[in-house]
Amino acid sequence: MTTREVQRTVRGEATSDGAGVRLVRVIGGGALPDLDPFLLFDEFGSEAASDYIAGFPNHPHRGFETVTYMLAGRMRHRDNQGNSGLLTAGSVQWMTAGRGIVHSEMPEQERGLMRGFQLWVNLPAKDKMCAPRYQDIDPARVPEVVIPGATVRMLAGGFGEVEGPVNAVATEPLYLDVAIEPGARFEAAVPAGHQAFAYVYEGGALIGTRRVPVARGELAVLSGGARFEATAVEASRLVLVAGRPLREPVVRYGPFVMNTRDEIVRAIEDFNAGRF
Ligand code: FE
Repeated sequence: MTTREVQRTVRGEATSDGAGVRLVRVIGGGALPDLDPFLLFDEFGSEAASDYIAGFPNHPHRGFETVTYMLAGRMRHRDNQGNSGLLTAGSVQWMTAGRGIVHSEMPEQERGLMRGFQLWVNLPAKDKMCAPRYQDIDPARVPEVVIPGATVRMLAGGFGEVEGPVNAVATEPLYLDVAIEPGARFEAAVPAGHQAFAYVYEGGALIGTRRVPVARGELAVLSGGARFEATAVEASRLVLVAGRPLREPVVRYGPFVMNTRDEIVRAIEDFNAGRF
């Protein structure tokens, strides 16, 4: 079985988005504009309310999916179709924007740590104008498997016999949050043809059979293969994310991601005319 090796490592860029939320953009910035089917990957984390309190007031999305995984803090989500939900620590929201939603994502706390990730996953051309769909997963519904040397939370896809709660997503994603003990080796099966990356957010790990060091705050772009392996050099946490590449043209304009320029123009017109 081929083991996935580190093709390159990328460090995110500090930036801000929404109404001034400070974050680190790892995919979707200059260093790694995209990684088909992934369009964006942000880490946000701060104990200073001024870094996050203004949140993400009303903004649209069309043509892709946003995935919010909260490690700490609380985020209130509301959209223009009457949906709302509270994302708490350990929860995941897989939102399929499809033909369009307008929503806000606002912190519901004024002090303490706010921490998590947002991933954007592209939709195939045939699904870009589908009806919006939410999968709001409470922390208790995220399976956690403890194996020697590691604890694995399964947001999407499978680990061993256990399947994560997110379902029926076009790119058949795998999204694992893994804590590895110092010196322990972690292994996981990954669909061989999927694009995959690992992002180390605590500690540091040696990834692949070549044991390439990947430090906290670095994303490893992985080669193809059916198997992932990482050894923690200290107590470490990483997310392992994989998805089926779409290999379709990508035209993006802010929160709209379509296949052609005409479709982007249409998205802007529809949004301005209140058709979302
Ligand atoms: Fe959003």
